[in-house]
Amino acid sequence: MKCRYNKCIYGGGEIEKGTEVQVGKGYYMHKECARYSKTIKKIVELYLASVDSTVMPKALYQVINKIVFDRKTDPEFLLFVLKGAIAEKIPIKAPYGLYYLVKDDEKIRKWKRSQAQKIISGIELADRKKPTDYKYTPTPPKKLESIVEGL
Ligand SMILES: [Zn+2]
Repeated sequence: MKCRYNKCIYGGGEIEKGTEVQVGKGYYMHKECARYSKTIKKIVELYLASVDSTVMPKALYQVINKIVFDRKTDPEFLLFVLKGAIAEKIPIKAPYGLYYLVKDDEKIRKWKRSQAQKIISGIELADRKKPTDYKYTPTPPKKLESIVEGL
């Protein structure tokens, strides 16, 4: 079956049988695509609820998509820094403020630590396979620093 995520991170390919995630009636996604889609939705909801409810969701999605897909940032890292900014009352004046949040070195270090702990406890480890025919391989958190340098 085909992945129904319009931003499929594997280029819209077939989903390996038994690994698909059902996201609606007759709708399936790659597990990683479902995670991306769900996390991006959470970022948008959180931004609208806690930062600015008047922003156009389309403009917000544009910025998020650029950060996640063009600059290959794990959406969970973006969600993590957004939550942190809200908790620390860091003002975010417009969606493009998100670009600055993902460049915060201290946040990157914190995130890496939390990811390392996840790996140690065995969570998600089994899901990290990387077939070579993937159009785009999600960037593991350990590479975040090099990505950020390119921003
Ligand atoms: Zn997909």
